Amino acid sequence: MTDSSNVSNSEKPNLSAPVAVIAIHGGAGAITRAAMSAEKERLYLLALEQIVSSGQAILAAGGSALDAVTEAVRLLEECPLFNAGTGSVMTHLGTHELDACIMDGKTLDAGAVSCVSHIRNPILTARKVMELSPHVLFTGEGAEIFAREHQQEMVAADYFYTQERYDQLQRAKASAGVMLDHDAASLTASKSDDPLDPDRKFGTVGAVALDAFGNLAAATSTGGMTNKQAGRVGDTPIIGAGCYASNRTVAVSSTGTGEVFMRAVAAYDVAALIDYAGMTLQQAADKVVMEKLVALDGQGGMIAIDRFGNVCLPFNSEGMYRGFGYVGQAPEVAIYR
Ligand code: ASP
Repeated sequence: MTDSSNVSNSEKPNLSAPVAVIAIHGGAGAITRAAMSAEKERLYLLALEQIVSSGQAILAAGGSALDAVTEAVRLLEECPLFNAGTGSVMTHLGTHELDACIMDGKTLDAGAVSCVSHIRNPILTARKVMELSPHVLFTGEGAEIFAREHQQEMVAADYFYTQERYDQLQRAKASAGVMLDHDAASLTASKSDDPLDPDRKFGTVGAVALDAFGNLAAATSTGGMTNKQAGRVGDTPIIGAGCYASNRTVAVSSTGTGEVFMRAVAAYDVAALIDYAGMTLQQAADKVVMEKLVALDGQGGMIAIDRFGNVCLPFNSEGMYRGFGYVGQAPEVAIYR
C-alpha cells in the first residue's frame, strides 16, 4: 500500500501499445485536525487499494472500461467510508437523495439518476438507463419506477442511514450551513478521526478507465452535500459536469462544489481543452481544477485518463481519496498531497 505524495498523475508506461488502466476517487476535502487518524487512514487506503485491484482484475481479464468503472463505483457505494450508497450524507430534511451517472466513451451513450432514495446501487440503475432507455437522466419517483421495472435492488429509506451522517447533519444545521462540506467554520465541531474532515469533504465517488481495446468510460455516484435542500441536484448526474467520457479525448469523474462544477461544465471542459486547444491531459486538468474552478470559488478535484492511458488526479483541496492502477502493476493509492 502506498500513500506517496506523487499519486497525482502518471505517464503511461509504454505508449506503443494500449495498457489498460483504472483510476478511482472517494471524494476530496480538508485534512482533519484529529490526532488519532492513523487507523482510519489505513482503512481508507486499504479500501481504495482493494477497489483499484478489482478494477484492474476486470481489465486484465479483457473486460471493458465500462464494466471496470461500474464495478469500482458499485464497490465504493457499498463501502460506508464513502459518501455514496450506504454512508451517504443527509438532506436538510434528514432524508437521503442519491445521484449517479455513467458514460461510455466509445458511443457517447450515457445514463443517470438523481434524487433517488430507495435504490441500493444508483450506479447500476444509471447503467440500465444508459443501456435500456431512450432517455439519459431520470429523477426521483420516475427513476425509482424505472429501477423497479428493471429489477434493481430496492431498499428501505433507512438503509442509507449512519449515525455519523446524522451527527454531521446536526452540526450543519447548528452552524446554519446549507452546504456544510464547504464551511470551514464547521471544523471546530467535528469529532471525526477520518483523515479528511467529513464536515469539509466532498464525498462523491467515481472511477475512470481505459481498456485494452482503447475504450474510455467514466462513472460517478454521490449522496450529495450534507444539509442540501430536498430536490437539489448537483454536478454528479450531469453529463459534462460530474462525469464525461469520449474515446476521442478523455474520461473524467469529478468531486467538489457541485454548483461550481456545473457552472464550469468542468468534466467536459477538460475534454474540450484537449480537443480544441491541443492541450495535454495534465495541462487541461490543471487549467480546469487549479485555475477555472478556483476562480469561481470551486473546491474539489477530479480523476482523468486520456486516450493514451495517461492518468491525472488533480485537486485544489488539501486531500483527495484516490488511486489508480495499470494492468500488471501494483495499485497506487493516496489521500494527501
Ligand atoms: N459534487 C457533489 C455534489 O455537489 C458533492 C461531492 O463531490 O461530494 O453533489
